Amino acid sequence: MEIRVLGCHGSQLPGRGFTGFLIDGTTLLDAGAVTSVLTLEEQSRIDHVLISHAHLDHIQELPSLADNLCYIRKNDPLTVISMPRVINTLKRHIFNGAIWPDFSILPRAEKPVLQFEPIRSGEKMRVGHLRVTSIPVNHSVESVAYVIESGQGPATKTAIFVGDTGPTEKIWSVAGKGKNVRAIFVETSLPGEMAEMAEMTGHLTPAGLARELEKLYPLMPQIYLYHMKIQYCEAIRSEIERLKNGRIQILQDGQVIRI
Ligand SMILES: [Zn+2]
Ligand SMILES: [Zn+2]
Repeated sequence: MEIRVLGCHGSQLPGRGFTGFLIDGTTLLDAGAVTSVLTLEEQSRIDHVLISHAHLDHIQELPSLADNLCYIRKNDPLTVISMPRVINTLKRHIFNGAIWPDFSILPRAEKPVLQFEPIRSGEKMRVGHLRVTSIPVNHSVESVAYVIESGQGPATKTAIFVGDTGPTEKIWSVAGKGKNVRAIFVETSLPGEMAEMAEMTGHLTPAGLARELEKLYPLMPQIYLYHMKIQYCEAIRSEIERLKNGRIQILQDGQVIRI
């Protein structure tokens, strides 16, 4: 499995984007960064988009992706997968004909550029050549982690994208039972001095991340940290160093990870 980091920050500045991961060139996980990073040809290869939750930093470039694909005349529609409530939010507040066109009926209702497919909590779904399971996490709005498996039998490899969350439980027990879990992508948005804000908004600090990772024991996969608020990158980085956990790597935009 190849994971290309299109954006991995909890804020946006030139050269640093909101969350977007491209898996094997065809599946996008969150759409906070995609059209500002990929060429039109690379965008045209995307056939599925998994959305963790409806916050703007995870969906903001989905409208421009749909618009770009509409004029490429792709054969198959782009399938947007998320929880039913998130899909309703996208339909009502973004693709509503007022903020942006309803691309689920364009260019023609019988052959649209966009289609929505609900995934329910705990459901496992085939997405292209991948198998995807959604697990609810603990954020200020409904949000899920995605467990993504590729390969068959003993060759199965699993990556887990925990998404925006405060302290949570289920995803760690699911990870403990996962097949060959190679990488876990987990947020750490704020430093220790902002712990109260982190708790209020459903995010983690480095100390909170350390407590979450204890729930994984004895599993010790590579941990990729992302979703840092840019203003606090340095503070978070030094708090992470003090944890002395060699398995934690802070992600950078543009990085490519192969598991
Ligand atoms: Zn969020
Ligand atoms: Zn976010």
